Amino acid sequence: MLEIQSIKKSFGKNTVLDGVNLKIEKGDVVVVLGPSGSGKTTLLRCINFLEKADEGKAIFGDIQVDLHKASKKQINTIRKRTAFVFQNYNLFNNKTALENVTEGLIIGRAIPKDKAIKMGKEALDKVGLSEKYNAYPSELSGGQQQRVGIARAVVLNPDIILFDEPTSALDPELVGEVLEVMKTIAKEGTTMLVVTHEMSFAKDVANRVIFMDGGVVVEEGSPKEFFENPKEERTQRFLRRVL
Ligand code: ADP
Repeated sequence: MLEIQSIKKSFGKNTVLDGVNLKIEKGDVVVVLGPSGSGKTTLLRCINFLEKADEGKAIFGDIQVDLHKASKKQINTIRKRTAFVFQNYNLFNNKTALENVTEGLIIGRAIPKDKAIKMGKEALDKVGLSEKYNAYPSELSGGQQQRVGIARAVVLNPDIILFDEPTSALDPELVGEVLEVMKTIAKEGTTMLVVTHEMSFAKDVANRVIFMDGGVVVEEGSPKEFFENPKEERTQRFLRRVL
C-alpha cells in the first residue's frame, strides 16, 4: 500500500533522516520506536508533506511521488489518502467536537452537510463521545480531545492513519482511553503508522515494530522478535532503558 524509499531530511547541518525505507501493507499496524530526536516525527511529517523531504520517493498504491519535488496535485492526492493524528490534537478551538470532525468532509471532500453530520456522529460514537457532539475542545479532557482527533481522521476513511505520539501530551490517567480507541480501530483493519513511546501498545497491537536511531532504521521485526530477541546492540540498549 505504501512504500517509502531512501528518505532524507536535514535541518541545517542536522541530518535527521538519513535514508529511511519503509513498506506498509494494507491492514498493517506499524509502530515506530526510538529515542527522542531519532527522526520519528519528521518521518511521519515528510510522508504527509507537513515537512518537505530533501530526497526520497513514496509509492502509494498506483502513484509514485518524488517527496522533494511533488506537485500540488500529487500532494493533495496523498493527503486525501492519509490522515494525521497530532500530539497536541490540533483541534479548532472555536468549533464543537462534531464541527471539528465534519470540517474535512464538508470543506475538503465536498460532502453535503447533512451526510457529513451523520458520518461525524458515527465517528464520534465510535470513539465513545456520543455525549459530546456539541462540546467545545475547552470543555473536553485531553483524552477526549485526542479521541475527537482520532474521529476526525477515521471519518475520512483514509488508506492509512499516521499517529504522531498521540498520547504523549496526556496526563498518565488519560492515556489508556486513547490507546483503547486506537486498538479498536486497529482491530477493524485500519492501516496505521504509529510513533509512540507506549511499549504496551507496540507489544499488544502492532504487527510490526520499527526501531529508529540517528535517522536510520536500525532494526525491525514482529513485536515478539523485537522485544524478546532484539538483535542490534542499539536496540538492546534502548529496551534496557525503557522496559
Ligand atoms: P523524534 O520524533 O524521534 O523525537 P524528531 O523527528 O522530532 O525526532 O526530531 C529529530 C531532530 O530534528 C531533532 O534534533 C529536532 O530538534 C530536529 N527538528 C525537528 N523538526 C525541526 C524543525 N522544524 N527545524 C529544525 N530542527 C528540527
